[in-house]
Amino acid sequence: MSPLNEFLITPKWILTLEQEGLLTGHTVLINGDKIAEILTTKEALSLFPNIPHIELKNQMLMPGFVNAHGHVAMNLFKGMCDDLPLMTWLEKHIWPAEGKWVSPDFVKDGSKIAITEMLKSGTTCFSDMYFYPEEVAEVATQIGMRAVCYGPVLDFPTSYGTGPDDYIEKILHAHDQFKHHPLIDIGFGPHAPYTVSDKPLSKIRTLASQLEMPIQIHLHETEFEVNDAIEKNGIRPSQRLDALNFWGPDVQAVHVTQVNEEDIAIFKRHGVHVVHCPESNLKLASGFCPVDTLQQANINVALGTDGAASNNDLDMLGEMHTAALLAKGVSGNASALPALEAVKMATINGATALGKENDIGSIKVGKQADLISIDFSDIACSPLYDPVSQLVYSSSRHQVDHVWVAGKLQVKNKALCHVNEKQLIDMAQDWADKISGK
Ligand SMILES: [Zn+2]
Repeated sequence: MSPLNEFLITPKWILTLEQEGLLTGHTVLINGDKIAEILTTKEALSLFPNIPHIELKNQMLMPGFVNAHGHVAMNLFKGMCDDLPLMTWLEKHIWPAEGKWVSPDFVKDGSKIAITEMLKSGTTCFSDMYFYPEEVAEVATQIGMRAVCYGPVLDFPTSYGTGPDDYIEKILHAHDQFKHHPLIDIGFGPHAPYTVSDKPLSKIRTLASQLEMPIQIHLHETEFEVNDAIEKNGIRPSQRLDALNFWGPDVQAVHVTQVNEEDIAIFKRHGVHVVHCPESNLKLASGFCPVDTLQQANINVALGTDGAASNNDLDMLGEMHTAALLAKGVSGNASALPALEAVKMATINGATALGKENDIGSIKVGKQADLISIDFSDIACSPLYDPVSQLVYSSSRHQVDHVWVAGKLQVKNKALCHVNEKQLIDMAQDWADKISGK
């Protein structure tokens, strides 16, 4: 981006997540792709009288949401098979449909739709685990979205690869292709302990350490998964992976609805991050991640939507709302996951889980300008005592007013700047008609 991309943003409030409370009477200076200064508005206007100035009345500027787990191309299966438990949903519907339909074009088109939905609802960085990660990454770079794309590894063949060695080879190729791109990271996505055997898990561990690539895995998604593993191996999946020296601070364990003291000790010992996907867990009746217990043990918990086929949206504001309520219900403690902690889970904790906390996740001089503004003019947010509380408990994604990724304006006054939404809606319906045989 040209260094001429210089402008001022003056909202009513700034939630930096770097200091307590909200800043008022302040202005952020963006230069290129970075946050260059945070000044009082008076100072900013006298020092920079001639550069573009965006005033956001009755709005809060905050870091963009980091959606720490998903399968973006699955947007094309959204609403195709609902109201089913996880294994029936996967084995009888999703895996056969993937076998039939997933191709580079499917992934490209599904990613365009999903990334657009995410941008419009304030997500500025997403993590993805899906086939053809290079296609997801390519679409993200074309649109200008930040992404960590985890190529999947499974013991069995799919349209994407013949087996573990082939998947790993393809992920390494994607890594080579994007290793210098400022918006993209490529990682390993071994699907789950029950779909990946010891040998590929060990190979992934070795390669990830050598190449400094992150790893994301579904873990302890259901009670069935854990009991089945104990029956087969005599130990819990977390313990099996521990014996393989698989865990590390570069690993994110997704879901984790089943946790005992041993699991917590393993996560703490190795600095493993947990990604909580409350709406997907609720919809598939998978169980409840004990967020409060994990946080009390100082384990970093990030937030993700999971794929839209099990959510059924990619709305981080909604996810945050659900997470905040669910944590209270599950722990029996109304003080569990207070509003500010829920916001951190959807921003800086996600950045930390993905190893990007020095670049994104808060508003700090030198960090990337991945920013969003929330409009509180809506009747749903009136009266307003505390914008952070209002954000978590009363707001919806339709209040996301401006979105910047790496300093580039993506959403202005609630409308997409560079994407033809109507075209994407038509394309999504064409796919749905084809998939449902119309
Ligand atoms: Zn998932």
